[in-house]
Amino acid sequence: MAVETVVPAASAKAANEKDAEKLRFIEEMTANADAVQEKVLAEILTRNADTEYLRRYGLGGATDRATFKAKIPVVTYEDLQPEIQRIANGDRSAILSAHPISEFLTSSGTSAGERKLMPTIKEELDRRQLLFSLLMPVMNLYVAGLDKGKGLYFLFVKSETKTPGGLTARPVLTSYYKSEHFQSRPYDPYNVFTSPTAAILCADAFQSMYAQMLCGLLQRLDVLRVGAVFASGLLRAIRFLQLHWQELCNDIAAGALTPKVTDPSIRGAVAELLKPDPELARFVAAECSKSDWAAIITRVWPNTKYLDVIVTGAMAQYIPTLEYYSGGLPMACTMYASSECFFGLNLKPMCDPSEVSYTIMPNMAYFEFLPHGGDGQGPGAVVDKTQLVDLADVEVGHEYELVITTYAGLNRYRVGDVLRVTGFHNAAPQFRFIRRKNVLLSIESDKTDEAELQKAVESASALLRPYNASVVEYTSHADTKAIPGHYVIYWELLAKDASPSAAEAVTRDGVMERCCLAMEEALNSVYRQSRVADGSIGPLEIRVVRGGTFEELMDYAISRGASINQYKVPRCVSFPPILELLDSRVVSAHFSPASPKWTPRRRANQ
Ligand code: AMP
Repeated sequence: MAVETVVPAASAKAANEKDAEKLRFIEEMTANADAVQEKVLAEILTRNADTEYLRRYGLGGATDRATFKAKIPVVTYEDLQPEIQRIANGDRSAILSAHPISEFLTSSGTSAGERKLMPTIKEELDRRQLLFSLLMPVMNLYVAGLDKGKGLYFLFVKSETKTPGGLTARPVLTSYYKSEHFQSRPYDPYNVFTSPTAAILCADAFQSMYAQMLCGLLQRLDVLRVGAVFASGLLRAIRFLQLHWQELCNDIAAGALTPKVTDPSIRGAVAELLKPDPELARFVAAECSKSDWAAIITRVWPNTKYLDVIVTGAMAQYIPTLEYYSGGLPMACTMYASSECFFGLNLKPMCDPSEVSYTIMPNMAYFEFLPHGGDGQGPGAVVDKTQLVDLADVEVGHEYELVITTYAGLNRYRVGDVLRVTGFHNAAPQFRFIRRKNVLLSIESDKTDEAELQKAVESASALLRPYNASVVEYTSHADTKAIPGHYVIYWELLAKDASPSAAEAVTRDGVMERCCLAMEEALNSVYRQSRVADGSIGPLEIRVVRGGTFEELMDYAISRGASINQYKVPRCVSFPPILELLDSRVVSAHFSPASPKWTPRRRANQ
């Protein structure tokens, strides 16, 4: 067993007594991982003993692992949908949790096209806050002097809705930023942001970003770290600077905020910082007007020591672009979390992105691990409950799917993340994030699976029927070369009357453009929200490839050792030679001409 030895005794190296206490807490939790897990499960089962859910499975008040594992099934969101729907509709009885459900957190994972609704309880905010509070003490072990400046973080809230029963439904970070925990946080010199809270709390994406960027520019020499939650968010901010630097410079030169920002609390907060500064305006304009944007981050914010963004999992595709814009600054992936539960943190935050491992904190929930591939074939297959392994018992090198039991009432819930054990910190395993199951395409927080893509292609290809044409084969690619990234779908068409003019007719008349939009309309609500409200995904593109291209694709795969009997068209491709092959066969490219429909309201019955 590889036991990590970096943080032990770290509390002795801590930047201050408060940090030392947090580091001791990490040591204590990880040294006693199994005992903490046992205690967490007993606590959860004791408080929830009388819930409808645990009674249904005859737990009879037992709080031990063996009874729990024998009686409680391993479930997915779809299994819990009836209970969740009842809570959403206003049933306040103790269905899943003995503590009242305070709100729903809307996951970027979707079910039937809508965000999953994760029940949460008030005290979970404390648990999330606790995990946040561990991040800087760890970071301070690796980077000195972070109390001497500020963090330029692009943080955003998203729109919220009410369920039919009146509970608020919103993303977990929106819930956190709007909480007292965040807004009334005590002053901490290691955690000072350049963004005014009013700018973070503004739901209008343009006004929020504009104000955050402006304040970042005004305090550019104070900035010691630049970040966003995910890499895609930071790249969006850079794109925003590319598009709006002239306007920002005008504001800086004049000492007056553009009238486009109308939110009075933002205007008030910005007014405290904004004074005419023609010299700064000239500097920013000179940097931004250069055609080469390499290392723009360190040029504009020269004291930046690292980027604080998640670049693991689906975000790894952005590493080269971030390296380019930051001139190779280290990228710190500090934590691993979800709407269901905050899981853990990276104890070596300055390591290379390819080396990132997260240590799951055993106090956050009760964690179990389903050996990957142990769920039979395909969705809906029944899980053999006995296969699940406890946190302390996972094995280095093995891959598992994460299963959680939370204080808020999820019991043996499959998160859908696949993790590989890379080692241990004390007795707590550390995990590399491998992937989220069933995600084919992702640009930002959107997650499109194969079934959703298939449905979207089917719905769009119906528009080809009047032309006697159909889609014979398709595949897709998340194109992130430009910001914002966009979905590219390669279509091979078959015109039934086989005349070249019929095929041509399809690619004229705006039919393909309408197909692009029809595909977008059929994709899930997180995709559409990113397109419409956030502008963080660009218009979907269909590239029509010439007849026979997919056969060539198969020939290529077979030449590389694929079995002809087992060959299936990959529904998503990222391997450069395959992309090159596809792109060299493109006969026409078409973009969605408009935004798909999206409103914060959920579609009926979801
Ligand atoms: P959400 O429920 O929308 O907050 O999404 C949570 C999901 O985002 C997780 O289950 C992971 O699939 C992904 N995720 C969160 N943190 C990380 C991370 N540090 N690295 C890779 N993927 C992550």
